[in-house]
Amino acid sequence: MLSVLNIESKILGGLERLSEALKALLWEKAKTFGISPIQIQILLFVSNHKREICNVSYLAKEFNVTKATISDAVRILLKKEYLEKDYSPTDNRRYNLLMTSSGVELVHQLEGYADVFNKELSSFGEQELANVFNTLSKLIFQLNQKGIIQVQRTCYNCKFYSGDKIENHYCNLLNSKLSAEEIQIDCDEFEE
Ligand code: SF4
Repeated sequence: MLSVLNIESKILGGLERLSEALKALLWEKAKTFGISPIQIQILLFVSNHKREICNVSYLAKEFNVTKATISDAVRILLKKEYLEKDYSPTDNRRYNLLMTSSGVELVHQLEGYADVFNKELSSFGEQELANVFNTLSKLIFQLNQKGIIQVQRTCYNCKFYSGDKIENHYCNLLNSKLSAEEIQIDCDEFEE
């Protein structure tokens, strides 16, 4: 018999399938370069974020895994010379992670792993994509507020944001109104 699910359950099912497909694409790339998916995620993160947040503690929160898991993955990336340590000038036990030139080269080859998703998304209309993005950015914020998603650098949680989180959005750092599509979910200038 045909099962009738409510729309929330269907959306959840859809998100789950998309997430599985993204993971599978990442696995494929990982196999090609002989590194694990978490190692790829770390490399992509370090190459796209400012140095201050590229450390074991932050990465563990970002990927919802233990510090031990991140430390193991980082140890291998350091050994393979894709990453290097940038020690704190005041405390030589603390360090952030930096890309090496081989790391940058590898990331360059890894970045296209989700190209097929981008291609399919670009076949939708602008308004349709804007609506999906609007819903997703709000969902991410709400789940962060409930402690389900640990880290997020979205406008809705940023000290520079003012607005009603519905349709009036303003960034006090840029001194500019933001349209729904301009809401950031991973902003480098984000401050809590
Ligand atoms: S700094 Fe970035 S995250 Fe913060 S409000 Fe401005 S655009 Fe949004």
